[in-house]
Amino acid sequence: MQLGRHPRVRLGHMPTPLEFMPRLTEALGGPRLFVKRDDCTGLATGGNKTRKLEFLVGEAVARGADTLITLGAVQSNHVRQTAAAAARMGMRCEILLEKRLSQTTEVYERNGNVLLDRLLGASLRYVPMGADMNGAAELLAGDLRREGRVPYVIPGGGSNPVGALGYVDCALEILRQAADLGIEVASVVHATGSTGTQAGLIVGFEGAQSGVEVLGISVRQPREKQEAAVFKLVGPSAEHAGLQHPIPRERVVVNSDYVGEGYGIPTEGMINALRQAARLEGLLLDPVYSGKAMHGLIDLARKGRWKRDQCVVFIHTGGQAGLFAYEPVLSPE
Ligand SMILES: *Cc1c(COP(=O)(O)O)cnc(C)c1O
Repeated sequence: MQLGRHPRVRLGHMPTPLEFMPRLTEALGGPRLFVKRDDCTGLATGGNKTRKLEFLVGEAVARGADTLITLGAVQSNHVRQTAAAAARMGMRCEILLEKRLSQTTEVYERNGNVLLDRLLGASLRYVPMGADMNGAAELLAGDLRREGRVPYVIPGGGSNPVGALGYVDCALEILRQAADLGIEVASVVHATGSTGTQAGLIVGFEGAQSGVEVLGISVRQPREKQEAAVFKLVGPSAEHAGLQHPIPRERVVVNSDYVGEGYGIPTEGMINALRQAARLEGLLLDPVYSGKAMHGLIDLARKGRWKRDQCVVFIHTGGQAGLFAYEPVLSPE
């Protein structure tokens, strides 16, 4: 694999720490739990999209773009990090926000990531639920080109073979840190949504022939669908990263038992996991992604999925800005 030949801009604070979680480990009676702090990537409250954006914005700059266009749910962390990246690069940022949740509150519409998007100077347009977001982004790009601007369209979640390079790189970073700590990682566990994080990690660990299992906890759709979506991105991402051999379908492992009613809809298990991480480790998770992923990790650990002395790395993908949009369901009564 040769990541060095791809255009890249520096946006994040890397490497992010890999830390032991002693109190959560003890509370669960094992496995040995570590957290990869990708919530600390540093870009406007951080998160996993920063790594993807280093390569995506790198390509945008190489193509002479002056405007980033992207899309997401109203409380999208990807949109917020893209808005910050555009500001850092002196580019304009045009955002399409999908009203993906049917029932929302005043704070959901205005606080959290939306507040930050506005502070960061992005221009926001709203699109109704179920609209063709990619089509709308391309139409907008066409309009801007006719005005003489040079737009670069970033797909939802930054998930394409270019963005996935960020997580190929993260897999290699985890392996270096694990070697420094003298541990052998059995599994990494993380929230999977638009699939770029998981696809990149699989390519990275596979490319390094490490044998690390990548377990994605779905936050939006059933296992078969999510595994198929991840696998669809694995092939082109492996090729883009310069991996020579094909990756078998069995490497893509997703568990969808913790989604609840759907994307962005809180579950009791998520709220409990969020409180446990906060009270045992002083670690703030988010309600849409890492909270549901931690619910999965805690439940699977309790059910004995791993041996007591195995090492499991939870990737904290960020999203805490979203906490403030969920205040009504998270405040203890
Ligand atoms: C986008 C996001 C994810 C999911 O990553 P994908 O690459 O979209 O699968 C997980 N956690 C947070 C906080 C996110 O914003």
